[in-house]
Amino acid sequence: MIRLFDSVFGEVRDLDLRDPGRLSMYVCGPTVYDLPHLGHGRFTLVWDVARRWFTFRGLDVHFVSNITDIDDNIIARAEREGRTETAVATCFEAHWWEAMDRIGVARPNDVPHATQYVAEMVELISTLLARGVAYPTSDGIYFDVSRVADYGLLAGQPLESLRAGARVEANDEKRSPLDFALWKNVKSGEPSWPAPFGDGRPGWHTECVVMSLGLLGDGFDLHCGGFDLKFPHHENERAQAVAAGRPFARHWAHNGWVMVGDQKMSKSLGNFTSLTDLLEKTDARAYRLLVLRSHYRSPIEVSPATIADAERALGRLDGFARRFDLPRLAGRRLEVGSTFAWPAPALELYERVARCLDNDLDTPLAIALLFDALSSANTAADRGDESSARELALGVNALFGALGLALAGDGATVDPASAALVTQRDEARGQKDWAEADRLRDELVHLGWIVEDSASGTQIRKS
Ligand SMILES: [Zn+2]
Repeated sequence: MIRLFDSVFGEVRDLDLRDPGRLSMYVCGPTVYDLPHLGHGRFTLVWDVARRWFTFRGLDVHFVSNITDIDDNIIARAEREGRTETAVATCFEAHWWEAMDRIGVARPNDVPHATQYVAEMVELISTLLARGVAYPTSDGIYFDVSRVADYGLLAGQPLESLRAGARVEANDEKRSPLDFALWKNVKSGEPSWPAPFGDGRPGWHTECVVMSLGLLGDGFDLHCGGFDLKFPHHENERAQAVAAGRPFARHWAHNGWVMVGDQKMSKSLGNFTSLTDLLEKTDARAYRLLVLRSHYRSPIEVSPATIADAERALGRLDGFARRFDLPRLAGRRLEVGSTFAWPAPALELYERVARCLDNDLDTPLAIALLFDALSSANTAADRGDESSARELALGVNALFGALGLALAGDGATVDPASAALVTQRDEARGQKDWAEADRLRDELVHLGWIVEDSASGTQIRKS
């Protein structure tokens, strides 16, 4: 049984699925008006790992994540740069998928775009108006939060205390500062869509509720996102579904922040300015390993120091993969663990790792077990017990693959002689013996390898 911390109940609970064996999950995606930032990298990695693990455990996962392609920021950038909103959104969506591919985040089963669902949003807003839960003002249609009895469920606060803490806004036509825009009336020069209550464009909270229910159906299983989305975004999505009489998500899960110390991100501090920037400077797998070594609900620090630490650990894993000549796994394929023929030592490891991951995705504990198993396999090989060492090594490889982390560089089978040269070269480089490192590189090139230096050590590949 898979258990996950549920943000509504504030405790780890069994995932109670709508249809046994099938898991429907929705993750709030990006608004595409700039390069993806480090926080985007974290939430996509966290929920990619979750999806991969649920699939590995045999669940048939339907994973939906949206693209918000109309929004104030997109409009502002289009105007500033003399481009259309569509051009801005298309450009940054391309950057988004390029970064996702590089960090090995599997593509969602469905990627709804907000602009393709406007008719359904208009329909929902009409329903809310007819039910008297929404009202018009001079700048658009607003949702009356006082009409939802348990408003504040996700925030963990009752309506009264939320209202006391709310920012007072300029719009005095709103009945409460917590009321939010479902529809923004058209302004000159801005994109708009027709609606019986006046042309305009949808509010962000209305997009996700329509797209999640539209693709996954009433009472879908799991709604995910960063902690910062819990309130007001998720609260407001839920409020609309409740007010429209539609059962919404059965479970809510949220991931922790990305910290950059108490300093602001800046180039002069040597920090990474965006996910794209990080991926240009490091092995993309390092961010996944950093995410895996932290619990998904905890904050993580992404800095040159923490990434370098992850790269060192990655170097150890790649060295291990070379030693046992392990096949490269993962990539974009989602695998099912029950189809593996687990040899005995690996089966025991799988069961122990599964106990950690089934219990609120305890990836730090699972990764620690995998590193212990790596040491055991090395020790067994050192004492000449090649077959059980290899069986365990294959298990370690399969489990890293299940979490989306491909060991070893590239997939070409590395023969033991070449693997030994790589190890010797890394040692020479570690001792700053550049002449010996160059000699070993020439030897590898002579054997037909393309040799590359990375922060995690020598990488070799064939063409
Ligand atoms: Zn959303």
